[in-house]
Amino acid sequence: MARSVTPMASRSEHLTAFRRRHFGSASPSASEAVPAAVRVHCLSTGVVRPKSRQRGVRRYLPGGWSSTTLPVNAFAVEHPAGVCMFDTGQTAAAAAPGHLPGWHPFLRLARFELDADQEAAAQLSSLGVDPQRVRWVVLSHLHTDHAGGLAGFPGADVLVSRVEWEQARGTAGRLRGYLPQHWPPGVHPRLIELSQRPWGPFAESLDLAGDGRLLVVPTPGHTRGHQSLVVRDERRTILLAGDLCPTAADLPRAAPAINAWRLREGAVVLTAHDADAPQALGGLAPASTGGRP
Ligand SMILES: [Zn+2]
Repeated sequence: MARSVTPMASRSEHLTAFRRRHFGSASPSASEAVPAAVRVHCLSTGVVRPKSRQRGVRRYLPGGWSSTTLPVNAFAVEHPAGVCMFDTGQTAAAAAPGHLPGWHPFLRLARFELDADQEAAAQLSSLGVDPQRVRWVVLSHLHTDHAGGLAGFPGADVLVSRVEWEQARGTAGRLRGYLPQHWPPGVHPRLIELSQRPWGPFAESLDLAGDGRLLVVPTPGHTRGHQSLVVRDERRTILLAGDLCPTAADLPRAAPAINAWRLREGAVVLTAHDADAPQALGGLAPASTGGRP
């Protein structure tokens, strides 16, 4: 469920001030300055249960589910200009029979377990933030456990890499394991090509809010159009990394240049299936060393 960084005020104090600033019951007073910190919430939208066999054709047979699971994390970033979701997690519909096409080998190897109140939009509501007022949704890529909760944010500007969108469409997209048939009708994504300028170890970047606090950066590998979000404030730098690698502990192998930057900057790397992401976010525990999505 939702975990968040609350560096200064208590959560209730903060949320009251946040609602007032963004959703309008009163204008912020002169004494109620916008906090310097950008806040990040980890919203774990249920779990994914893999097959217990990692190899061989028998893993495609019915049953044989692992006794262990991994979380399916999405993240909500409270920026002074509005709320930005990074990924939307899974939809509860995915836990019902028939949502995932049984003919696809890739989709036979994972089972999603969540209830409606575990969807990202429902969790955001429970934090006191109206999901209809989310300003941006940045999707790392279009696999179902990242785009599944998209329908819960109907008012958002949805940003998808143009390469990813083209990979995920039509029959070819279905054969690659995407579910374009479940894309919410009426949602027209902004297809982005990151051509602004290099930033740190990243070849390109898009400064989403114009203040350097939310940077969309390309991290191809898991999929061709995979992208990540750098979140910065006066206190820390966080890389929301989707499926760039299973956990931050895998970063040296998966992306050495990004790992070198992480060490230089003291950045926190949070991935979609890292069970320790909430603790790493809160600075309560070191990054995980285990788990594979
Ligand atoms: Zn994926």
